Amino acid sequence: MRLATGILFTEKQIRQRVDELAAQIDLDYRGQPLVLCAVLKGSIPFLADLMRRLTGDVRLALIEMKSQVDGKHASILFTSRLDLAGKHALIVEDIVDTGITLDYLIKHLEVERSPASIRVAAFLDKPTARKLDVPVNYRGFTVPDKFVVGYGLDWQERYRNLPYITWVEPE
Ligand code: 5GP
Repeated sequence: MRLATGILFTEKQIRQRVDELAAQIDLDYRGQPLVLCAVLKGSIPFLADLMRRLTGDVRLALIEMKSQVDGKHASILFTSRLDLAGKHALIVEDIVDTGITLDYLIKHLEVERSPASIRVAAFLDKPTARKLDVPVNYRGFTVPDKFVVGYGLDWQERYRNLPYITWVEPE
């Protein structure tokens, strides 16, 4: 695979969209404490940009997950310590593809952490690949059925550092 020459979303487009998402989230939660539950590692740039634009009472939890190779199951590898009981949780994801990872995480948090509410902010959404019906309350951009990279998203751990979104394609 090699990096495509085209760009799907530029740095400027990303900045503008994250501004809009943050404004909407600020409005929706109106100062109520909010726990950002960020899924490592792909969400890191989105998380960092989004959280610095939020003006309310924001706390942070980090979660590392494994999207299973069989494409049917996900699991949680690590969760930072943070009490979610009775608090509003906002899952921060890099991309929702089949929805399997997100579906597992939502159910896990509901059962194990008893938050007051759970919503999802996904930087990218690839609806053509969806297998499970999961909520995406705040969506950065919808992407076509390509393997996208950049702004935290990797291909074999590479390209996370690109400040824009592009994709990889066969050589
Ligand atoms: P899902 O469980 O929704 O199928 O996939 C979740 C995870 O798969 C994402 O958090 C991401 O790590 C990875 N993933 C799915 N599609 C893509 C893609 O197009 N590009 C990259 N870099 N990762 C993807």
